[in-house]
Amino acid sequence: MGVIDLDAFAHEVGVDDPVAVAGLCTRGGGPAGVRTVAAPSGILWVQPDEMIVCCGAGTPVDELVDALAEHGQTVALPAGGTVGGALSVGHSDHRRLGYGPVRDVLLQARYVSATGDVVKAGGPTVKNVSGFDLCRLLVGARGTLGFLGEVILRTRPLPPSSQWMSAPATDPDTVFTRLHRPVSVLWNGTTVWALLEGHPFDVAEQADAAGLAACAGPPPLPQGSRRSVPPAAVVDQRGEFVTEVGVGIVHHAEPWSAPPRSARVLELTRAVKAEFDPTGRLNPGIDV
Ligand SMILES: Cc1cc2nc3c(=O)[nH]c(=O)nc-3n(C[C@H](O)[C@H](O)[C@H](O)COP(=O)(O)OP(=O)(O)OC[C@H]3O[C@@H](n4cnc5c(N)ncnc54)[C@H](O)[C@@H]3O)c2cc1C
Repeated sequence: MGVIDLDAFAHEVGVDDPVAVAGLCTRGGGPAGVRTVAAPSGILWVQPDEMIVCCGAGTPVDELVDALAEHGQTVALPAGGTVGGALSVGHSDHRRLGYGPVRDVLLQARYVSATGDVVKAGGPTVKNVSGFDLCRLLVGARGTLGFLGEVILRTRPLPPSSQWMSAPATDPDTVFTRLHRPVSVLWNGTTVWALLEGHPFDVAEQADAAGLAACAGPPPLPQGSRRSVPPAAVVDQRGEFVTEVGVGIVHHAEPWSAPPRSARVLELTRAVKAEFDPTGRLNPGIDV
């Protein structure tokens, strides 16, 4: 379908000065005040039978989703930004319960390193990959270890039907435990929402069993903070919130500061960064 010139991207990234990478900037893009580059965009190929797609990391997720829909498939990346941005931020969206985490989507990455080289990590066939699992290191690294240029992603079949359901509930488990593999279960203290996918008959039967009625969609997720809590704490939230039941992510209206990381974790993170980018030129100032 398209052609991607990774050598040109590597040339743009260069070899010595500080440089940032940005996608659509829905999460702020790279650090301000630094020369900024954008990853190549475009879909190279789709292999529906193998359930894989290859595209530039600068491709908008929405464009990729539209292209995959023509093949009856989709990809489990959050909407809105670019493929590279979604992978580098590393946050799964509300479908993580059914679709799995974002890090499982990336099978192969060709990225530009701090030395301006194009490096390949992972591979489309998992059993052919040996060595360190660099793809999982790059997901969530916010471009501090390398700039994603071209990626091969795992796709998923589009379900025959997909429907949001809701019901009043003061305990989300009363609904959650009656559902078979829901794609998403959200709860705000008084109402539970579930995204059910599959054959229409199965979806309707499950909804009946759990006392759910069809609704227009999920509630808006509060934007103040997003934090991960132990499963038992999901039902123990205060204020305005929406929890992802079965996952442990809570979206709060109030801002929240994550507790400082342990000295050991900080030491490890810095050691990894020093190995990949000893001069700290990639996305300088971004603390992962
Ligand atoms: C309508 C809408 C709905 C959304 N829904 C959700 C949701 O449900 N859940 C959720 O978690 N998010 C959601 N988002 C957020 C969205 O998924 C993220 O903002 C997106 O993943 C970031 O992409 P971006 O291109 O805007 O990245 P940017 O904001 O441009 O960059 C984000 C980070 O990624 C780095 N980066 C960008 N490109 C690369 C690259 N090629 N290589 C290395 N690093 C790179 C940047 O340097 C920066 O550190 C939503 C956004 C919108 C607009």
